[in-house]
Amino acid sequence: MLAAGGFESNIEWLREAWGRNERGEWPADNFLIRGTRFNQGVLLKHLLDDHGADRIGDPTQAHMVAIDARAPLYDGGICTRIDCVSLGVVVNREARRFYDEGEDFWPKRYAIWGRLVAQQPGQVGYSIIDSKAIGRFMPPVFPGVKADTLPELALQLGLDVETFMRTLQDYNAACRVGSFDHTQLDACHTEGVLPAKTHWARPIDTAPFYGYALKPGITFTYLGLRTDDTAAVRFGGVPSDNLFVAGEMMAGNVLGKGYTAGVGMSIGTAFGRIAGTNAARAALQQGVEQHAGA
Ligand SMILES: Cc1cc2nc3c(=O)[nH]c(=O)nc-3n(C[C@H](O)[C@H](O)[C@H](O)COP(=O)(O)OP(=O)(O)OC[C@H]3O[C@@H](n4cnc5c(N)ncnc54)[C@H](O)[C@@H]3O)c2cc1C
Repeated sequence: MLAAGGFESNIEWLREAWGRNERGEWPADNFLIRGTRFNQGVLLKHLLDDHGADRIGDPTQAHMVAIDARAPLYDGGICTRIDCVSLGVVVNREARRFYDEGEDFWPKRYAIWGRLVAQQPGQVGYSIIDSKAIGRFMPPVFPGVKADTLPELALQLGLDVETFMRTLQDYNAACRVGSFDHTQLDACHTEGVLPAKTHWARPIDTAPFYGYALKPGITFTYLGLRTDDTAAVRFGGVPSDNLFVAGEMMAGNVLGKGYTAGVGMSIGTAFGRIAGTNAARAALQQGVEQHAGA
């Protein structure tokens, strides 16, 4: 029974999968791994390359979170996640916004922000909030950069002040504030700015201001072994009668892109039980056959 996780800790494999981007960068060089360093995908590669097991999923697709750029390369865990994205704006290294920060509830969107940051120059982003956001999100382990004015914040973050101020002024002027409610897809939205912010759009205007540098934090990869409801590994479309797989090694079966909170553990739990039951049944059957043959 195989349950050795994805290949998210294998930077070389991620590098190969992501390749170079149009700016000549290797995006995977700037990824941080949120969990163990031991998920190198050794067994996954062995099954795919050496045994020709059937595969499913895109090797570049993964659960990827925007995490604090100061997080360690491995094992940063949950406390380095930056959860204030939907309460403010996110800009790239050029001080420009690049995606709707209020598209949907945070548990439905947090796992795409790592990928969005991975597509930006230098694979870096900056989450910007003002004091109205404080107390409304899980505080990360490292404090944010704090400033009393927006130009000062841009300076501290190393961003071009003029572009940053234009981005923030355009955004602030575009906010159509209704009744703010972070527990609902509320009516606070922008008009006349691209990209739009479709919910929870309030001007960033109340000091002190905070900024967090973001990097892509990879939680687990989606490339996996193709299987079915028996959790059997398949070779040339034929299910194995004694090799079963569970968890991230077959998660690509379920997740195309994006995420729903809790699915990671659910995949491991549900398919772990199925794979374990079927592996025990296969072992029992093999034992019966061996006994009958003796
Ligand atoms: C920071 C973080 C937060 C998360 N939060 C959530 C959450 O809130 N909800 C949720 O549902 N999911 C969450 N997940 C995802 C969840 O932890 C995984 O989806 C789940 O653990 C996958 O289970 P698995 O058994 O497939 O792999 P893993 O739990 O990764 O286990 C794989 C094991 O195999 C071992 N291994 C790897 N290669 C080899 C080898 N060659 N030989 C022997 N052993 C090997 C590894 O050391 C590891 O112990 C989170 C993950 C991280 C990193």
